[in-house]
Amino acid sequence: MNFEHVTLIEHPVISRDLTILRDVDTPTADFRSAMKRIAIILAYHALKELPLRSFQVQTPIHETTGYDIDQEVFVVPILRAGLSLTDALLQFIPDAKVGHLGMYRDEETLEPVDYYSNIPNGVEDAMVLVVDPMLATGGSADDALTYLRKQGAQHMRFISLISAPEGLQRLQKKHPNVHIITSAIDEKLNDDAYIVPGLGDAGDRYFGTTE
Ligand code: URA
Repeated sequence: MNFEHVTLIEHPVISRDLTILRDVDTPTADFRSAMKRIAIILAYHALKELPLRSFQVQTPIHETTGYDIDQEVFVVPILRAGLSLTDALLQFIPDAKVGHLGMYRDEETLEPVDYYSNIPNGVEDAMVLVVDPMLATGGSADDALTYLRKQGAQHMRFISLISAPEGLQRLQKKHPNVHIITSAIDEKLNDDAYIVPGLGDAGDRYFGTTE
């Protein structure tokens, strides 16, 4: 399957860490560590196209040209699992603003239900990185991107750890200008809209709320 505007990041560390994440027997602490390592690699790639401004800086030896990032960055985790990817982005951009979008999946309709939104001012000119580790049906992601666009966001990226073809197709169709950065494209969704093979419920496994 060919997905435009999707960057699949491949790396030996990602292959090893995805296996740790997928393994049903992985304890919470190891799950968190593996998630954080992949998040750092994805964050590094997602920030690649940030514009720079140059200025003169004085080293102890000589004056030279230095650079700073010339666009404000917003990180918008889709609650709750998106929080697991947020710190990695803040390590690169410590002054990024963080907005939150709260959505849960109705267990019967499998559709996303919005329960919370808090987006800081200034979203219009910012590079907005929407994060959710699992892009499954694409329902929550579609809602989040639509909401942010209505708030005025113009430069958005979506970062996910594992994506299903169904979710990628939906986002490509509804949000063709949003570049998606992911570390895996899995096979399909099951009848409960979980990604196959996937890793189960990312939020539950990250926050240790599994039975
Ligand atoms: N959300 C998850 O946490 N896992 C899936 O497989 C799909 C949606």
